[in-house]
Amino acid sequence: MSDFVIDTPPIVAIPVSGTDNLFPVRRVYCIGRNYAAHAVEMGHDPNREPPFFFQKNPNNLDPSGEFPYPPRSSDVHHEVEMAVALKSGGTDIAQDKALDHVFGYGVCLDMTRRDLQGEAKKLGRPWEIGKAFERSGPIGPLHSVGEIGHPDHGLVRLNVNGELRQEGDLNQMIWKVPEMIAYLSEYFELAAGDVILSGTPSGVGPVSKGDLLEASIEGIGNLSVKVV
Ligand code: MN
Repeated sequence: MSDFVIDTPPIVAIPVSGTDNLFPVRRVYCIGRNYAAHAVEMGHDPNREPPFFFQKNPNNLDPSGEFPYPPRSSDVHHEVEMAVALKSGGTDIAQDKALDHVFGYGVCLDMTRRDLQGEAKKLGRPWEIGKAFERSGPIGPLHSVGEIGHPDHGLVRLNVNGELRQEGDLNQMIWKVPEMIAYLSEYFELAAGDVILSGTPSGVGPVSKGDLLEASIEGIGNLSVKVV
């Protein structure tokens, strides 16, 4: 029996709606430019090209309802996204079997230090400095497939201080959930605890300390986050 030489890091856990249970997070994959209107607003071709993914750290996900404005940026943006939580995984998963691996869905924010991401893009550097910072993934409770099924359409909205900033529909995703799971599983071994953030509709923009972010996805739920 071996002892750990330091305290073991806490397991990152997301509440499951309507229960006392928690979903433990293993990895976080995020797709880029999955809504045509957002690709256009970021200056890219909206045509369907192969998907690309980046990662956040598991402990960037934060169900607390507070988002501390991060250091070293003066242009932090909101991106409202559907989170897909996996209960199992594997490699080379077929699209028609992909949804069998989904535990449930939630409402999430892919908070982004846009200025730092922009510099990284320009220099051909990795995106982590813009994407994978502390508490950069505010997330609401997960809703199991048993509770809500597999939502493939429904309004995605984000209000800031009561004003509508982002609006789209899940049915506008360029790469659908089964396609994202199948694609990722060609490159990575997916497993229980993995979370996929499925991209943001157009209307991304900056937040300030004191803002109240209210996200909703029809058929899933709501998420309120205070910028502190
Ligand atoms: Mn995003």
